Amino acid sequence: MFVDSHCHLTFPELAQDLPAIRQAMAQAGVDRALCICTTLEEFAKVHALAMAHDNFWCSVGVHPDNEGVSEPGVDDLVARAALPRVVAIGETGLDYYRLEGRSLADMQWQRDRFAVHIQAARQSGKPLVIHTRSASGDTLDMLRALGQGGALPAATGVFHCFTETREVARAALDLGFFISFSGILTFKSAAELREVARFVPLDRMLIETDSPYLAPVPYRGKTNNPSYVPHVARQIAELRGLDVAQVGEATSRNFEQLFTGTCTA
Ligand SMILES: [Zn+2]
Ligand SMILES: [Zn+2]
Repeated sequence: MFVDSHCHLTFPELAQDLPAIRQAMAQAGVDRALCICTTLEEFAKVHALAMAHDNFWCSVGVHPDNEGVSEPGVDDLVARAALPRVVAIGETGLDYYRLEGRSLADMQWQRDRFAVHIQAARQSGKPLVIHTRSASGDTLDMLRALGQGGALPAATGVFHCFTETREVARAALDLGFFISFSGILTFKSAAELREVARFVPLDRMLIETDSPYLAPVPYRGKTNNPSYVPHVARQIAELRGLDVAQVGEATSRNFEQLFTGTCTA
């Protein structure tokens, strides 16, 4: 009934509790999850999860915040994306939130890394899982410049854990991307984001936990896990005058359309 489109089940906070988490998911009606990769070093573990459980899938990518890790080439990503149950490239994108004294010019390595992921997505035909923080202008510019045109299919995907404005949402939708909302939507301070969630068409939105982070109300501050994703759906249902089941169905359909519809393995 519900799908968590973005979680980090290999992170130590969750990895040790997997059997209990899977039981909680079943009880909460969360029947599927996408396990997100953040380094090449981590990929084998993430992929093993997706291979071990027929309701888990995974991505391959290197998060923009990760430094001092293997730098992926296009071929590294394309080769892993061809493995069974790998349905997305990411998470990738740009994050200028913690510059730590560096200028935007110093962050060229992040833009180079993002460009590699965009190319890999187009070559493999798999959607991108985009992380963007304090960098939406450059993120959109790069997708416009590198994500379309030429002989390869245009890049598609999702802007995950969306916290940007309605204008950024409009631009992402215009590029063919989906928008994914996390537990942040339930935070008291997120009034503006709730307006964005009213605006995004139901057939273009996903829900996620981004667990172990960002637990939704009423679990805010605790360790998050995929069984909490219905709280995000409930918030969207409330905002739009829908039944929570309708939001669950729509976002599950969207997940299939974007990620698993063509995945036969
Ligand atoms: Zn992220
Ligand atoms: Zn993430």
